[in-house]
Order: sequence, then structure tokens, then C-alpha cells
Amino acid sequence: MNKDERVYNFSAGPSMLPLTVMEQASRELVNYRGSGMSVMEMSHRSKEFLGIIETAEQDLRDLMNIPDDYSVLFLQGGGSLQFSMIPMNLFRGSRVADFVITGSWASKAAEEAAKYGKANIIASSESDLFSYIPELEPASFTKNADYFYITYNNTIYGTRFTSLPDTGSVPLVSDLSSMILSEVLDIRRFGLVFAGSQKNIGPAGVTIVIVRNDLLGPVDPSVPTMLNYRVHAENHSLYNTPPCYSIYMAGLTFQWIKSMGGVEEIQKLNEEKARLLYQAIDESDLFRCPVTSKDRSLMNAVFVTGDEGLDKRFIAGAEREGLMNLGGHRSVGGMRASIYNAMPMEGVLSLISYMERFESEHKKGGSHD
Ligand SMILES: *Cc1c(COP(=O)(O)O)cnc(C)c1O
Repeated sequence: MNKDERVYNFSAGPSMLPLTVMEQASRELVNYRGSGMSVMEMSHRSKEFLGIIETAEQDLRDLMNIPDDYSVLFLQGGGSLQFSMIPMNLFRGSRVADFVITGSWASKAAEEAAKYGKANIIASSESDLFSYIPELEPASFTKNADYFYITYNNTIYGTRFTSLPDTGSVPLVSDLSSMILSEVLDIRRFGLVFAGSQKNIGPAGVTIVIVRNDLLGPVDPSVPTMLNYRVHAENHSLYNTPPCYSIYMAGLTFQWIKSMGGVEEIQKLNEEKARLLYQAIDESDLFRCPVTSKDRSLMNAVFVTGDEGLDKRFIAGAEREGLMNLGGHRSVGGMRASIYNAMPMEGVLSLISYMERFESEHKKGGSHD
């Protein structure tokens, strides 16, 4: 690998960004479109920045087909702060929320919600190491729950929902952190969705919340002003200084997705990348994907050899070829290839080709160590 070359970065987050987006950002870094200053130096009330945030919001609305009665908020605190903000804002009636536990992120969301009300576990795949999405029995749902919570794509375990629970009038809330803009979603099915930026959107710093307006408070007076969705909605995400540069970068990514033909086209590419990678894993005698076929993530492909030492050699060998960050999450080990929107097809093909070479080398020796 040449030191000056970019690598294929399979990190789960922060993760790869489209090269054209970063090249554009670098051209505009010190002088944003004739303003004589960087976006980093600009007042968030300037007409240039207002143009950036308004365009970013409109582009996201176009890409995700967000109806007018939903607010788009650009917040801070990452996906993790949403685990607290959601119960603080949405516990207004029964103070009960239903949760489907499909991994650590859903568990964390339930733990936070339990600080403010009741977090009712509807189903969990924990006993099977989160290797599938549980079947849901609507009769078990809490009729008057304040919300129903799912993690759409499980970044660590490599699973995703492929159909949504019918929660009736109970608002469905979903963590889209590792799949936003990767496939077409019907926002109308949800009361609230959110995503940190550092997986499919841009650098860390901005957290996107899309919330139906009837869910914007009123909240308990003890809720901090900064954690009140309504305050941010009424102020168009400019109640205080927003993460200006991250919003600018997110806006460039939205334009890139538009230039690619929108989310429909990106989804086709993502499906093809995932299909080829899972096919290579399934056809291999060395690698195995622990996730039930129908629940496999399009974004995070998890696989193992079954031998920890061999996994480590695979990951180290991959780095020498410029295929970086293929180690699984520290809690599960094995391998994980995160193939977000910005990962080009060539990156996936390079990985597959390396997997094939690694496998044949390890067959030749006749042993797996
Ligand atoms: C990464 C991730 C988070 C946490 O995001 P932060 O921005 O680091 O707080 C939450 N949920 C999911 C599904 C994630 O992938």
C-alpha cells in the first residue's frame, strides 16, 4: 500500500465519506464560496450559514420524502443523547414505552428510558447473541404506550428490520444511526427517528432528529431547555450555536446522494454490495456469517472463521492491503465490514478478492492456524 493512497475504510463509525465530498470541502475550506472565510469561522446567523442549513434541511426533506408536518432538527450529543431526550420529551401519558431489544444500542435506550418511566421489553434476541430480529406479537404491545422503540439497523450484530411493527396510534420511534439514507423509508410510519452523523452522513457532531410535530411537547418543566425538542423546532435548530461545520458537511453529502440519483439508486448499490459480500461469505468454507439470512444488515456485515487467532491474522493481512478496520466490535470479536453509502463497489470487490486469497492460502497449509 502506498502511503499517499486512500484506503478502503470498513470502520463502523466514524466511517468513510465520499471522496468528492471531502474534495469539495477542501476546496472551500479557507474561503467558502467567495465569503472570504471558512464555514468554521462564520456566524451561525450569517446569510451564508443560513443558506447552508436551509439547503441541507430541504435536501434531506427531498431525499427522505419528509412530510411537512414533521420537523427536521440538527442537534448535538450523538445518538446516545437521544436515548435520554426521547423519554424526556415523549413520556407524556402512561409513561410506558415498549422496546425490542436487538442489541446493545436498544438496551441502552431502554435503560435510559427506565430513568423516566417504564421500559417494557416486548421481545429480545439476546439469548441467541442478537443473531436475528425477533418476531413480534402485536397482542403483546402496550395499548397506551407513549412510544414503541426499535433500533432499525444493529451496527454491532449486523442485523436489520425488514418490516416494521404495526403499532397503531402508538408512535414508532427508531434509531437510524447506521442506516439513514441507505434505503428508502416511509417516514409516515414513524413518530420520531434519529441518527448521529458519523456513519452515513458526515463527520461526528450533528445528530439528526425527524419528529412529527404533534410529538413536540409540552414537556415536564424540569426538562432542560437544550433537551426540549420544541425549543429546537421553534428556533429552526438555531436556539444556540449548532455544529455548523458538521451541518455543512452533511449538506454536501446530501447533495452527493442527490447526484447519485437519490436514495432509491443508493439502495440498489447497497443491496448489490451486500449481496456480493454475503454470497462470498456463504460460499466460503472458511468464513461464516452468524446472522439469520433474512435479517442481515445491508450496512454492517459480520463474519467469523470460528478461530480467534485466524480472525486476527485475517484482519492484520487485510490492513497490509489497505482494507482497514475489519475487526468486529470490541464486545463480539470476529470481523465486521461496514459498507455504508460511501464505500464504493471496488472496496467490496477488493475485500472479497482478499477473502478468497486468504482462504486458499489457508487451505493449502491444510490447517486453520
Ligand atoms: C453508533 C450508534 C449509536 C451511538 O452513537 P453516538 O453518536 O456515538 O452516540 C447509537 N445507535 C446506533 C444504532 C449506532 O450505530
